[in-house]
Amino acid sequence: MRQLPLHAVALFLLTALAPGLVRAEDAEPTPSSVLFKNVRIFDGVSERLTAGSVLVEGKLIKAVGEHLEAQDGTSIIECGGRVLMPGLIDAHVHLALVRRPGEIRNDYDWMYVGALAGDQARRMLLRGFTTVRDIGGPTVGLARAIDGGLLPGPRILSSGPFITQTSGHGDFRNYNDPHPVMTGNLSFLDREGWVYIADGADEVTRAVREALRRGAVQIKVMAGGGVSSPYDPLDTVQYTPEEMRAAVVAAENWGTYVAVHAYTDRAVRMAVEAGVKSIEHAPFVTEATMKFLAERGAYLCPTARISLTSPNYLGLPPGATADKLAEVNAGARNQLAWAKKYGVKLVFSTDQFGAPEIFPEQSKEFLTLAEHFSPVEVLRMATSTAAELLALSGLRHPYREGTLGAVTKGAYADLLLVEGNPLEDVTLLADYEENILLIMKDGKVYKNALKD
Ligand SMILES: [Zn+2]
Repeated sequence: MRQLPLHAVALFLLTALAPGLVRAEDAEPTPSSVLFKNVRIFDGVSERLTAGSVLVEGKLIKAVGEHLEAQDGTSIIECGGRVLMPGLIDAHVHLALVRRPGEIRNDYDWMYVGALAGDQARRMLLRGFTTVRDIGGPTVGLARAIDGGLLPGPRILSSGPFITQTSGHGDFRNYNDPHPVMTGNLSFLDREGWVYIADGADEVTRAVREALRRGAVQIKVMAGGGVSSPYDPLDTVQYTPEEMRAAVVAAENWGTYVAVHAYTDRAVRMAVEAGVKSIEHAPFVTEATMKFLAERGAYLCPTARISLTSPNYLGLPPGATADKLAEVNAGARNQLAWAKKYGVKLVFSTDQFGAPEIFPEQSKEFLTLAEHFSPVEVLRMATSTAAELLALSGLRHPYREGTLGAVTKGAYADLLLVEGNPLEDVTLLADYEENILLIMKDGKVYKNALKD
């Protein structure tokens, strides 16, 4: 009973002390109907802007057209021919990883983690991200708090815990930590739902079912080595085809799908052959495997900036983790060019986690992608194609009243009003403070710099 007020106090303090940022209760009391007048619309797909107006009623877009009239009580936003586009979608974030896993495990308590995650969620919304797929970590409760209007943040499609094999990429134990299943000694990360360690098809099935029971929208499985875990070399393949298939079947029985963390060729192929729909990272795949991804229609979340950014830039101290990242940098050089060549379905994805100073890197993903793709290609990755990937969660998708990633009749009113034309220069979204003038989510305005 005593925990709830403390939660509230922690959240209040964090939100009250962050100057210049909106609190949920500060969101403007938007009337139920808003007319964006005189906009040029990027609808999420087309490479041409359409001039017109957009009428929002409640949480949805009621109409898009050339000559929309305002009814009594409709509030009118005169947009001066600026570009209106869908709110951004990031398909790979970890809001509960407010620091590196080892730091959280050793030094943090759950309430502090929750408060920090809430703070990051608000900042993410104010960067223009109205929807995120949280692809590992206990964020079901955070989604609940945001959806319930307790604090501002993006829509969250949470994966709940990482499902990992013993000594897999989600096994964040120190060398001498006991095994949670073999000894019954659950670490903080096991206990609080960051990770389920599961070996063998039966345990994997149970872990997936438990994650779904706890509210996972889609399932995240670790299929190979990764940078931030200490005892799984990058070249490793994790899980057998039988174990991977067990995860896919358990997810599909629940109407949803599996996303995997996978770096190597073998890990990616094994996962896709087992029925995995979303591949995360994949810096070491060969050209042939990239072609295979395209043929199978799998989605690729390349987390390009982190894959191509040097460890020094991210402030990683020298050591095993930095060495691993340097290896990823080298491997990922051709990834985007091959993905483009074969038409792989790419989705905007940043892998944002860790210290608060790293989180704003999220918007710089636009700078990296713009070096390889045209503006409209990048914009689709962060809107319509991302929404298509999220839709694979079927009836587990928490936001089914409207379309996401689109400015069309019946879509959610998740909208950005942008200074400049992102179809000419998509990098302007990286400077979100300057260039994203208005942010609406679910029909509610969270930022409006037009008035100044
Ligand atoms: Zn990740």
